[in-house]
Amino acid sequence: MTAAPQDFAAFHRRSIEDRDGFWGEQAQLIDWHQPYTQVCDTSRPPFANWFVGGQTNLCHNALDRHLKDRPDQAALIFVSTETDTEKTYSYRELHAEVQRFAAIYQSLGVVKGDRVLIYMPMIPEAAFAMLAAVRIGAIHSVVFGGFASHSLASRIDDASPKVVVSADAGMRGGKVVPYKHLLDEAITLAGNKPARVVMVNRGLADFARVDGRDVDYAKLRAQHLDAQVPVTWVASDHPSYILYTSGTTGKPKGVQRDTGGYTVALAASMPHIFMGEPGETYFSTSDIGWVVGHSYIIYGPLIGGMATIMYEGLPIRPDAGIWWSLVEKYKVTVMFSAPTAVRVLKKQDPAFLKKYDLSSLKALFLAGEPLDEPTAQWISDSLGVPIIDNYWQTETGWPLMAICNGVERAPSKFGSPGKAVYGYDVQLIDENTGQPITEPDRKGVVAINGPLPPGCLQTVWGDDARFVSTYWTSIPGQQMYSTFDWGVRDKDGYFYILGRTDDVINVAGHRLGTREIEESISSHPAIAEVAVVGVADQLKGQVAMAFAVVKDAARVADPADALKLEGEVMKVVDDQLGAVARPARVRFVTVLPKTRSGKVLRRAIQAVCEGRDAGDLTTMEDPAALAQIKDLVRPA
Ligand code: AMP
Repeated sequence: MTAAPQDFAAFHRRSIEDRDGFWGEQAQLIDWHQPYTQVCDTSRPPFANWFVGGQTNLCHNALDRHLKDRPDQAALIFVSTETDTEKTYSYRELHAEVQRFAAIYQSLGVVKGDRVLIYMPMIPEAAFAMLAAVRIGAIHSVVFGGFASHSLASRIDDASPKVVVSADAGMRGGKVVPYKHLLDEAITLAGNKPARVVMVNRGLADFARVDGRDVDYAKLRAQHLDAQVPVTWVASDHPSYILYTSGTTGKPKGVQRDTGGYTVALAASMPHIFMGEPGETYFSTSDIGWVVGHSYIIYGPLIGGMATIMYEGLPIRPDAGIWWSLVEKYKVTVMFSAPTAVRVLKKQDPAFLKKYDLSSLKALFLAGEPLDEPTAQWISDSLGVPIIDNYWQTETGWPLMAICNGVERAPSKFGSPGKAVYGYDVQLIDENTGQPITEPDRKGVVAINGPLPPGCLQTVWGDDARFVSTYWTSIPGQQMYSTFDWGVRDKDGYFYILGRTDDVINVAGHRLGTREIEESISSHPAIAEVAVVGVADQLKGQVAMAFAVVKDAARVADPADALKLEGEVMKVVDDQLGAVARPARVRFVTVLPKTRSGKVLRRAIQAVCEGRDAGDLTTMEDPAALAQIKDLVRPA
């Protein structure tokens, strides 16, 4: 399946100039129940409709299609170092489990187009729940298990799921992390209540059951052991899933993905980007709650006929060799992780990397946040395989910058996620003129000339206007999608990402909106006003730092009281959004630095926290405001 060596520049050019011819060929990589009549309909820009008239099914392409050639080959390898479990499901077994889950959905009245929300730890049942949903044309929305009740409630309200699938608990670092009470609280908060909750009981935590609403997975599964649920063929543009992501407003955006375009994009990425062959093993250390988990724990590897490892646990438990022991044991050829995880490993004894036979590994892919040069160099020296930094977003669904070694071998440049991937007409836009930058080494906004290639977001769930106004209006008069990232391109066409243009921050590869964190902190009754900024951090890339004004200054007059309030505020964020969104510090100030028109100067706060020059402050209302922050963050 590996593509014959080709000239990448020509490959890329053709993907743009002969878009339909190029993607028409890639579309042959998947099964179509009914062939499409048009490759791409762009008659309603900026919306793009891929493989018009075609009918297919994501679950069919991930599972059923492989039953003939590889029924007994491993499909899903579940490894939990938290519960000491290891279990392999062959394609045949996974297919059977997914049919059982599909039958459960049907017994609960789920039909094509209904939403199911999946709030689960990294366990096989989460994979069954996802695949079973798309099997019957239902639309799943997986919510990261680290999110708490408010985050979950806003997603339940937006997606209005008929059914929620959850579990009693996850585990992290040997500690049980109960889920059910957060889900119950979220459903209480939500206006749109799901009719049913399917509970997977791992026996880790007791939980309350709501009569008439909560049903037990094991019981239902036993009733459907022999279930045969044929796939529901859906139109290519039928939504497969919604995945919420953070933006500049407090309200999360539901990234909506189609079926046909996404299946083709993932199928094409396996040979071209990942060099993954059927029968090999793919190991992505992400979580199903993130886009990497959707595309490269579940769908991509299975579409490509590979075995995929689903891992519950930490990278350093029981020791820092755990991931490499899995590479050896399961002969992993393609591995995908995040820079933060590598930085965590870098602090451990490097001997762990030498302990195992890693000769099966072809490459390590890293994404989700900037990969700094020292980290890239360290892991490259340690592993001796290509380290492929790749850049993408929840919105794109698959890499938009990478080195496509499956098309043409090319060197990586540390610090760069490579070149624009085929299908993406990437432009750097001059912030002032709105014009594309053609010369090398000049900073601009990373943008994509429409239409977006297959697999990218179709729209924002339930809100076409928001899709258009958020992504397509920053460059007036042009069909240009903004990534909201700054970048530069060198003379060889390699890009470098220089951070976000908006108020989105990236903590350990997790994308968070500062506005959401601010709203949560403001809900504490003692807080009058707050600004949250992302500050550079050696381990996590960035951390959130909060500066709050209290309603009654006496509350923080004493340092011990201030510390107590800081703890209270952090707890509010933990309870509402989840620990992942908890700021590293909450500091109290009497006034926030603002412009005369009242806009909080977040960039200036960020600069001060990072020890940089705060830039032009002529519009600042009260210079003392920034001085306070400077004093607070000055190293002792
Ligand atoms: P998410 O939607 O959570 O995947 O976050 C996407 C954002 O993460 C991008 O817009 C970038 O700001 C950042 N990002 C992802 N991958 C990379 C990378 N390889 N290098 C630099 N930044 C990245």
